[in-house]
Amino acid sequence: MSTARTAEAKYLTKKDLQILNLCSDITEEISGLIPAGEERNNYIKKWGNVGSSRDSNIGFAGKISNDALTTRGKSGKTLQANRNLRWTPLVFANKNHFNYIEVQDFSISRGILNYKINGEYLNPREIYEMEEFAIILPEVFEKLKIIIDSLTTGQKKDFWDKNKLPIPLMESCSWVEAVEVFSILSISVASELYSVDKKKLYTSVIKVLLSQTIDKNIQVPSAKYPVFENIDLGCPICKLPLKDSLDAFRSIERETTFQPTISNNKRSEGEDNATQLVHINPLIDSLVNHNPQNVRFGHRWCNVAMTDHTLEDVLKFFEHITATHS
Ligand SMILES: [Zn+2]
Repeated sequence: MSTARTAEAKYLTKKDLQILNLCSDITEEISGLIPAGEERNNYIKKWGNVGSSRDSNIGFAGKISNDALTTRGKSGKTLQANRNLRWTPLVFANKNHFNYIEVQDFSISRGILNYKINGEYLNPREIYEMEEFAIILPEVFEKLKIIIDSLTTGQKKDFWDKNKLPIPLMESCSWVEAVEVFSILSISVASELYSVDKKKLYTSVIKVLLSQTIDKNIQVPSAKYPVFENIDLGCPICKLPLKDSLDAFRSIERETTFQPTISNNKRSEGEDNATQLVHINPLIDSLVNHNPQNVRFGHRWCNVAMTDHTLEDVLKFFEHITATHS
């Protein structure tokens, strides 16, 4: 498994920094509503901290920043970034569904891939500065494969490690959508797990969103941002509170699974109620679906049961299962 970081992970454009700062402002505003001391510190560390690099400085950022602002990572033999900001303007997909600028070709300079976009070969930093999205289509990967196949094993590893940059189209979104998802998830965590008043949270967050100076021509919050009455709390699948243990649905107590190695690993990822990112409608290649209407936090058990289906389909399937067994 490769642990390579995203290409130029520490390189943030002026705009990236402004966006991350806006999210930090949201965390500051929200954490101010949580009693000072251990509880507030815990919120900031576990949830609210915003990353200071493209890949959230893996391990530094809180869960909201990781989930709302950066893509799910991929390691190994792939160009896909090991996490990158969701508004990174270089995506890949099977088809050009949105009429993005197409990558025409590439060149390799000192082991670094440069992409030909609008007639010019751009290096990673220049790509991060692009204003519009560009897309890499399968033909370009085919051409690249021929070159990679000719490399030695060591060269191949070096190549993948240095060039993890593009993100899947389905994981991408505009900076506004990313920030709005960050807001919604922050409200849900602070309200449900830290007992802050939902109305207070909503009002505070709106105030921060309205203060943005990143792009005065864009309205934030956008039309997609839910009005207060439509802010749903709890897991979107079982509709129980996020902190509900779901123990009521377990008839036999769970035993600790024996680990043959001595390990300090205390991750609670495997718990039924561990908080996970849920896309109510799944992310698919032909849609940009990471937005404040479609993203929630939910329980691990519920999320796993859903896999990549729509909520509607999952309900239909559960109904079938229940009917078959009763
Ligand atoms: Zn649930």
